[in-house]
Amino acid sequence: MIAVPFHQNATAVRGFVVFSRVVAVLIGTVALVVLTGWCLGVPLLTTLVPGQHAMKANAAIAFALSGLALFLTQDFVTPRWRLGPWLSIVVAGIGAVTLGEYLWSLDPGFDHLFDDSVARAAGLPQGRMAVPAAFALTLLGVLGLLVSTQRYLVLRETIAMVLLAIVVTGLASYAVALAGKIGGPFAQVPLPTLLMLLLAVLGWLSSSPTTGLTRVATADTFGGALARRLLLPVMFIFVLEALQSLLGLPETLAFAFVALGSGGAVAGLVWWVASLLDKLERQRMESALLRNDADTDVLTGLANRRAFDGALASLLHGQRERDTVFSLLMLDLDRFKAYNDDYGHLAGDQVLRITGHLLRAALRPSDRAARYGGEEFVLLLPEADAAGAREAAERILHAFRDFAWPQRAVTVSIGVTQATCGDTAADLVQRADTALYAAKNAGRNQAVVATP
Ligand code: GH3
Ligand code: MG
Ligand code: MG
Repeated sequence: MIAVPFHQNATAVRGFVVFSRVVAVLIGTVALVVLTGWCLGVPLLTTLVPGQHAMKANAAIAFALSGLALFLTQDFVTPRWRLGPWLSIVVAGIGAVTLGEYLWSLDPGFDHLFDDSVARAAGLPQGRMAVPAAFALTLLGVLGLLVSTQRYLVLRETIAMVLLAIVVTGLASYAVALAGKIGGPFAQVPLPTLLMLLLAVLGWLSSSPTTGLTRVATADTFGGALARRLLLPVMFIFVLEALQSLLGLPETLAFAFVALGSGGAVAGLVWWVASLLDKLERQRMESALLRNDADTDVLTGLANRRAFDGALASLLHGQRERDTVFSLLMLDLDRFKAYNDDYGHLAGDQVLRITGHLLRAALRPSDRAARYGGEEFVLLLPEADAAGAREAAERILHAFRDFAWPQRAVTVSIGVTQATCGDTAADLVQRADTALYAAKNAGRNQAVVATP
């Protein structure tokens, strides 16, 4: 198999890198806003959206560190001290410690750094990072560590997929909770945490766009173009789901929006894929036509000299490698100059076209007829020895004699030769040419087989 070099679409690569930088700054900023909310005791800053669960302080710290780590992986940051991986380890640590607190029922734990005045006012227990959120932050830390150290690609992509699944489940749980049902443990993950998690995972994946799964979306191929087009509707569905919960739309309206959005995205995708496939098919047909044009003689429709050279080279290769037999016939119309002089060039062209038909009709499907130049033709007969080639030559001579030519009978002279071991293309053509001139000298309208 020929190894095709893998080309990356430069614009897509740049787009992903810019996206990951924006995400790094955004995550860091939002996390700092939430932390400020906790420090100053402003609930709105911790929930970001009125009426939602607050993003817990330690989750905000983890996001701030993950954002900083992501920022430090950017290539314009000179890595004098490689702090990024260490920050990611701390992020994973925050998640792991919180999980540990749940596991060993430590209370009050690390989570109670800040007073949750909203929970206290509502008579609820002090807020704590939900289990799925703690699990997700642990994974986010490991993801950051693996991306920034460029290690364990498969594990890294698997972790990213698990994180995306957690985000989707979280968003779906919101929709379920919105519909008045119990949303399950995932509905306890605050919406801002889910959205930050989504951004962080996408940001980390985008920071290394020529590796892993992101590599598919930056490939300069049909698959790459398709993957890039898929990103938009998928993001659209995410945003729609998030907005629906944020805006607190009535359940029927919310579901109608999601259905409309998903349906529209699917319809748009089908249209995109269809138009891409259509474009691809048209390009394939055009290139096939061009290839065909480049190999075909316009006047006779037979193969041209270029195609003949290629076919002869491959037969010679087969003979050298597998000791296969083949023969070559060189044909030249008799006294054709006189025919042109008597009836004109257009009538001469008509004779050349008829010759094309006669040759095609006289040959087996595996044989190849080509216009060598002017009124000279050449035939390649695979698996035919000299005797078989002579029979084919006789068939052609008869076809010429039997044909009802428009003005006067046209005849042809043929030189026949069988390829022998060690022949080059030039040797073979030269031998057939010599035999052809022997046929001309012997009175034309006949075939002569070359003596090897
Ligand atoms: P011979 O029997 O010895 O082959 O005699 P001839 O007149 O056929 O001689 P030669 O093969 O040298 O003649 C080639 C002639 O073929 C010259 C030219 O008028 C004619 N010819 C070559 N290409 C074309 C073409 O594309 N169209 C037409 N109408 N004539 C062509
Ligand atoms: Mg000639
Ligand atoms: Mg001639």
